[in-house]
Amino acid sequence: MKVLIINCGSSSLKYQLIDSESEAVLAKGLCERIGIDGRLSYEKTGAEKETRDAPMPTHTEAVQLVVDALTNPKTGAIASLSEIDAIGHRVVHGGEKFAGSALVTDEMLAAVKECIDLAPLHNPANLIGIDVCRKLMPGVPMVGVFDTAFHQTMPRKAYLYAIPIEYYEQYKIRKYGFHGTSHSFVSKELARFLGLKLEDSRIIVCHLGNGASISAVQGGKCVDTSMGLTPLAGLVMGTRSGDLDPSVVDFLGKKIGKDAAGVIDVLNKKSGVLGLSRGLSSDFRDLEEAASKGNKDAEAAFEVFCYRVACTVGAYAAAMNGVDAIAFTAGIGENAAGVRAQIVKYLGYLGIELDAAKNAQRGGNVKISTDASRVAACVIPTNEEIAICRETVAVLKG
Ligand code: ADP
Repeated sequence: MKVLIINCGSSSLKYQLIDSESEAVLAKGLCERIGIDGRLSYEKTGAEKETRDAPMPTHTEAVQLVVDALTNPKTGAIASLSEIDAIGHRVVHGGEKFAGSALVTDEMLAAVKECIDLAPLHNPANLIGIDVCRKLMPGVPMVGVFDTAFHQTMPRKAYLYAIPIEYYEQYKIRKYGFHGTSHSFVSKELARFLGLKLEDSRIIVCHLGNGASISAVQGGKCVDTSMGLTPLAGLVMGTRSGDLDPSVVDFLGKKIGKDAAGVIDVLNKKSGVLGLSRGLSSDFRDLEEAASKGNKDAEAAFEVFCYRVACTVGAYAAAMNGVDAIAFTAGIGENAAGVRAQIVKYLGYLGIELDAAKNAQRGGNVKISTDASRVAACVIPTNEEIAICRETVAVLKG
């Protein structure tokens, strides 16, 4: 099957066309600045990447441009639209309604709409993407793949916040978790790579990108994760603070003259390693370079980030009464060897010892712990598009 993967944001749209049997990417690209001016990039595998300005007042024009690029007689990856067998859509929040991926139907869309107040920035854009594809490609089956679904197996003790229970019952305030597609894909890939039986394994996945989260996966099911009601919780991130004393919101708000929403905005956009490094950068490449030149703020940001990851790994080892293997994934997890080395240093008590030469290796799945280590640590590149493709095919095959 040829599956089109759509990841629709408020002003951008990422797409990939994947052959589900070989899992080869046939073409991919990005629509940017939708509603502003518009820029399209398109890359057919094996050919050069094209980028051009193209007016995109709305997502409808963006999807139309993607379809035109894919079917372009000269450079297209397919001859006609009829070659697209299915579409897999990333959907950020499925609330408690979706514990797995779901076929797009009117009822499914109504349920996603009910989750809008849980993800007011993301779900509306995801819904627009689905709506436009339904109009432009009627009859093509579509599947929604949720960032939150994998975490729905968390037990109550992990997802309940200790606030009056009525607030959970009335407003569904609880821990949901995000990056679920990545945590699901990477945990399975890690078990396969190490030859572990997924049903008997205890795995910790560290998804360390600009947004970062950790999950504890026992027997293939998520039992805890570090993000919460929103992606602001848990680890220190590029620009997000992660966990802090909730009283900071009121205390800081009074000091700087902002209301709760204003402070939350600071915690989302100006905090994390960006804030700790005095605004230097949210990108670990810049921080590592600055730290190597003696920048103390960059050094502190690096330390706080790694320490929080290590403490969360420890908490999840406790949650599962042990751990068999740990995966590092996403931009930082896959590329920042220094970050991995620093985190693994904390984990000696679990019986993990770093193989420095392996840790310096680049690309693909790599075991970075020594063979003598009791717990394996590995780099497992994530691939959310392939994961969405697999989910789409699985739902359609029933
Ligand atoms: P997201 O999908 O959340 O935007 P990514 O998983 O793409 O994030 O990760 C992006 C981050 O990965 C960058 O901000 C940077 O901190 C880090 N990163 C990417 N490449 C490298 C590298 N070679 N060395 C260190 N860090 C890197």
